[in-house]
Order: sequence, then structure tokens, then C-alpha cells
Amino acid sequence: MINKADTQREKNLDTTSSKSASEEIAKLIPGGVNSPFRSFHEVGGHTIFFEKAQGAILTDLDGNKYIDYLGAWGPAILGHSHPSVVKACQEAVEAGAVFGAPSLLELQMAKSVIRHFPSIEQIRFVNSGTEAVMSAVRLARGFTGKDIVVMFEGAYHGHSDSVLGSSTHQSSTGLLENAKQQTILTPFNDLERLDATLRKHSGKTAAVIIEPVCGSMGVVIPEPNFLQGVRKLCDEHQVVLIFDEVLTGLRVAKGGAQALYGVRPDLTTFGKALGGGMPIGAYGGRRDIMDELMPIGEVYQAGTFSGNPVTMAGGIEVLRLLDDDKVYQTLEARTAQLFDGLGRVIEKRSLPIQLQRAGSMFALIFCGKPVRNFDDSKHIDAERFAKFFHLALNQGIYLPPSAVDAACVSAAHTQEDIAATIEKMTRAIVQVF
Ligand code: PLP
Repeated sequence: MINKADTQREKNLDTTSSKSASEEIAKLIPGGVNSPFRSFHEVGGHTIFFEKAQGAILTDLDGNKYIDYLGAWGPAILGHSHPSVVKACQEAVEAGAVFGAPSLLELQMAKSVIRHFPSIEQIRFVNSGTEAVMSAVRLARGFTGKDIVVMFEGAYHGHSDSVLGSSTHQSSTGLLENAKQQTILTPFNDLERLDATLRKHSGKTAAVIIEPVCGSMGVVIPEPNFLQGVRKLCDEHQVVLIFDEVLTGLRVAKGGAQALYGVRPDLTTFGKALGGGMPIGAYGGRRDIMDELMPIGEVYQAGTFSGNPVTMAGGIEVLRLLDDDKVYQTLEARTAQLFDGLGRVIEKRSLPIQLQRAGSMFALIFCGKPVRNFDDSKHIDAERFAKFFHLALNQGIYLPPSAVDAACVSAAHTQEDIAATIEKMTRAIVQVF
């Protein structure tokens, strides 16, 4: 129950500096953001500008502190500004931030990723998840000599033409019509439909790309044997299977969703948490496929900053820290604590909120039944979520400003942070119903 003092405090959260900064920046940067996800267009209000991020705490321009569940959209798995990651990056900057030629850090980083992911025989580092997916899709096309890419409704694979054109909820104008026609959508968690799609486009399909846990329509969990079935169908139809683990990579388990569900993809894309907060993407997998890349093969992919020393140093340090099983035990314990607390409230009041999670990525889905595919996600009550979002924000809880995108717990969240979050979220939940 909210008492008067709490209401007063909620009203008093002063974000004046963020408000004026967001008005000023919108004159110079479209929508005031360099990535549309960051804007508050789904939830309303002005964006919050941050000055500092340390551990699990964000500090805004007005000095307000928030317990962070955005996790920078995935990267902050250890929390923000982990001291040893910062140190590794600082040393790399001092030694030379970019060479445009190989460094031993790239070798060390390749070894670190391969240690965590046995399906990776070779790897290439790029600068974002988008680049990783764009490159992996091109590679699959070059390897197979085929054009069609099959993806799942409601998935987000970054903003390259091949995976955005037909996307059901992240579409865009300005894309090549041809790119859209070469991308076929099929529902998540439905093997029959995937089989029918692959039969229909038999002999013309290069790849199936899948987020093994879908993070952009609620956190949608693959049903038992779904991913195994996808693997089998790709083998039957001789199609390259790409796991997009940009988000799930280190989040759902140490070896990603492929370790958690025991399925070996042909190619995997990475990003986000892999770089320790530095901009990163990577793709890798079967050696015979990776051998198609220039300069050995004929598929082109390049990048001035690809594999740059600062990112490699951050990544190596993150992967070293994640070798310690205690980090995953903490991530699991904190996320479970959050779900236990919220679950009790939701159950007691029989509220239409679904708690869905895989490892430390989670969603509070304002919907009467679990979301297992894109059609289900259309029933999410975005308006109620927007109210909840602002009530939580006003109490110092920062969530993704979207009713469908995954939130993240970090290893820096303390039991006290989670307990406070349960209390504040409970207040917000009670107020919106
Ligand atoms: N793939 C998945 C599964 C993602 O979640 C994202 C980003 O949210 C991307 C690809 C694109 O990554 P980036 O934003 O680094 O380009």
C-alpha cells in the first residue's frame, strides 16, 4: 500500500535537467536519440540523461539514482564500469587504441570466445550486433549460393536490410524491395510451419536465423525440443542454422543458449555483453563456412575498427571474470529472488502479468497468458505497462522503455537492491490495477 510520504516522494523526483537536455538535443539529433529504442516514444514523457553508471546504479543529470534493469540493453552483465574491465580498457587505450593491423589481443579474444562456445571453430570480430548478423547472413548466402533467409516473427536481429525488411514490428521504409522478398517469416515455437516454409522454398534457402530465446516480444522461451527440431529441419533441408546470440550469448548461460538447450548451430552471432561495455559484434562457427570469407574465400566483410584493441581488452577481461561460476550463481540467485518476490504479489492478486525469463534476461509482461510467439505478444497491454514504467521510474527503478523488450539483472545487483526493487515495483503494480 502506498502511504502519503511515498506519493509525495514519487511526485518530487526532479528531472528538470534531463527534460531541458532532451528538448535541446532533439533540435540537433533526430528524436533526441542515436538509437530509437532509447526514446520514450512508447511510454511517453522525456528521456532521462545519465551522467554516471557504476555497478547496478545509474545517476542522472539531476543527481537522481536508479537501480538499473536496462543493463544498457544487455552489455552490463557484470554491472557498469567493473574496475578490472575499466583498467584493461585504459591500458589498451594507452598502448594504442587502434592499429588497423592485427594485435595479439585479437588472438587472445578469439581463444577466450572459443573456450566458452565449442561450436565456434573460427570467429570474426566486428563492431555491433547488426554488423555481425549482416555479415553472417551474407556469409550463409555466399556459402550456399542461395538467397532466401528464414526468420521468426517478432524477432529483432539488428537493422540490416535482410532482417528488417519483413520484420513484423521493427519495419522501415527505404529498404530494397528485393531484400524484403528474400526474407521469409515464420512463427516462433512452430516446427510444422517452419517445415512447410522450408519445403515451399526448397533449394532456394540459404539460412534460418533465430534468437534462441526471443528478447524483443517479451522473453519468449523455446518450447521443449523446438530448437532441436529447428536444427533437424535445417539439416534435412541443407540450410545454414544461425543462432543470433547477440543478447543471449553470455546472458542465459556461460556458453549461451546453445549450451543451455544443447543445440549446435552452424554459425553464431554475438554482441552486447561480449565487449565489456565496448562496442562489439562477432560471428563465427563452422570452419568450412568461415573459410568462405575474404581473403581466403569470396565473401567480403571488413571494418576499420573491427577487432580493435580496446574492445578486445574489455572482452578478454569480461570473459575471464565470467569463467568464475560464482558470477552465474549470483546472476541466477538475484533474478530468482526478483521473480519470487514479484510472483507472490502477482499470484496473490491474480494479476494478468506474466513473468518470463531465461538466465538474467527477464520481462514483466502485462498480458493474461504467457507469450509463446508474436501473435500472443499482440495482447500485451502497452498502455498499462507505460503507467507502470513511470511509477517505477519515479521510485528510482530504470527499466527498458518498452512493454516487450528484455530487461537485465547484473552480477552487481545486491540482495538489498532486489529487495528494494520488489517493494517499489509492487507499489507500482498495485497502482496500475
Ligand atoms: N540481434 C539481437 C538478438 C539483438 O537483441 C540486437 C540488439 O538489440 C541486435 C542483433 C543488434 O545489435 P546492435 O544493437 O549491437 O546492432
